[in-house]
Amino acid sequence: MALATPPGISAIGVIRVSGSNAFPIVGKLFVSKDLAAQASHTLHLGLLVDGGEQLDEAVVSLFRGPRSYTGEDVIEISCHGSPVVQERVIQALLRQGARLAKAGEFTQRAFLNGKLDLAQAEAVADLIASQSAAAATTALNTIRGGFSRALRELRERLISFSALIELELDFSQEDVEFADRTQLYTLIGEASATTSALLQSFRLGNVIKNGVSVAIVGKPNAGKSTLLNILLNEERAIVSEIAGTTRDTIEETLNIGGVLFRLIDTAGIREHATDVVERIGVNRSLEKMKEADVVVYVFEVDADGGAASMNGVGVRDEVAAVREDLGRQGKAFLLVGNKIDRRPEAGVRFAEEVLVSAKSGYGVDVLKQRLVDLVLQGETVIGEGAMVTNARHYEALKKVDEALRVIRKGLDDLLPGDLLALDIRHCLHYLGEITGEITTEDRLDYIFSKFCVGK
Ligand code: GDP
Repeated sequence: MALATPPGISAIGVIRVSGSNAFPIVGKLFVSKDLAAQASHTLHLGLLVDGGEQLDEAVVSLFRGPRSYTGEDVIEISCHGSPVVQERVIQALLRQGARLAKAGEFTQRAFLNGKLDLAQAEAVADLIASQSAAAATTALNTIRGGFSRALRELRERLISFSALIELELDFSQEDVEFADRTQLYTLIGEASATTSALLQSFRLGNVIKNGVSVAIVGKPNAGKSTLLNILLNEERAIVSEIAGTTRDTIEETLNIGGVLFRLIDTAGIREHATDVVERIGVNRSLEKMKEADVVVYVFEVDADGGAASMNGVGVRDEVAAVREDLGRQGKAFLLVGNKIDRRPEAGVRFAEEVLVSAKSGYGVDVLKQRLVDLVLQGETVIGEGAMVTNARHYEALKKVDEALRVIRKGLDDLLPGDLLALDIRHCLHYLGEITGEITTEDRLDYIFSKFCVGK
């Protein structure tokens, strides 16, 4: 039993009770009707009373197993959303013999009762934690079985493969040339194609789930804070005429076209403010952006005429150096020429460049679109196919992929069937780790402990 809604004051609070004793326990408090006599999937309004004390007037929803979230008998009590009322109902349930559920325990039971596989169960946690429409849709697709279906297909291919191998083993005494070796190659090729597609989907899947971290960097006074503010459309960072006023690293999230961006205004770059135009300085400041997925480098388009050419290095050289460095690192980046309102004709022409006026907002929409394009690389946020969004699944799939490579090599090397069969078993093992057919109790506990209580 657990409170399934956030603690605190709300219109209603839902307490979920699951298990074979759910009906008798809640039935003792719910005095208005005999719950045991009611049909599954029905709602009932009535009084909750414990020891003669009225606790609340509540609606109870009845779900008899296995047609419930956990697969067990489940009752959800929708009581008034006062922390006092909720606590009283919870205490009464405890007195009647219920116990508090652990984090994720309902979903863990759903998994153990075969309502969901492990990948689907993990997607439940992702759906709850989702911060963008794309993340929510992707998680829901996984819960609805898109990803699991792809894995099942993969598994079936491997099983057909091993069936063919076993056939070969059966005939090994009789020196028959195994009929269709090309069929084996085809099967393993198809399996590899599935894993590669899934592995590839992780780039976008990860972007959708975790968002994209964007470091906004550039020399002091280039207009980074102003740009950050206009992107966020609010006065979050303090904009100042004095260089180096933004001390702390600020992180804000921004949703553009369904993709979650985490914008980091790296104050750290100012430590090297004096030598930032020197190559070494640029390199050092780029160190700071290592962990960002995308770097937005802000420079003043009219800097050549002003203070920024202080070290005798013009803005053209500065931007060219940054461009070369980021390119060499293979980092996704955009060069943003700011303060275009001052010198509309100015600018350094690079393909990665966007000209904006952070102050007036000119060009900011273009910048937003360019950011989205950079991340999606022509893909759409809500892909048709199954998508890997979970790092654990990704790691296991990499092992599946490697195991498939070993099998193919075994085929090339004309490895005897029993050894091939062993390699297939490895492959199936890693696959089973994803869906939870093969897993240890500790591992399950760890996965479910990351859920919230009540789910
Ligand atoms: P940061 O040090 O890179 O964070 O730069 P700030 O955002 O603090 O901006 C430095 C100064 O440049 C401030 O006075 C801003 O008002 C000004 N500024 C920023 N963007 C623009 C712009 O697009 N046009 C003009 N004219 N001034 C700007």
